Amino acid sequence: MLANQAMWELLSEKLGVTEAELIEKMGQIDLRDGKRDGKISTGNLKECPSCGHKVRKQRANCYWCGTELTLSSPFMDSKRTD
Ligand SMILES: [Zn+2]
Repeated sequence: MLANQAMWELLSEKLGVTEAELIEKMGQIDLRDGKRDGKISTGNLKECPSCGHKVRKQRANCYWCGTELTLSSPFMDSKRTD
């Protein structure tokens, strides 16, 4: 949140970005997942089939239990193990 606020203030001070433009952009980003629901899709998360925790899709293994996860998108960078 703090980083968001700082970024916004810099943008508006240095580039003269208006709040209307910010809101419009937020709407565009919101719609990227196909629905205007006020949030960014959690589409890059999936449920671990083994333990049920939410983990990032690009992970090769479940962060929580280590179960190997199948990669569902060729655009995701694979084999991240952080
Ligand atoms: Zn798991």
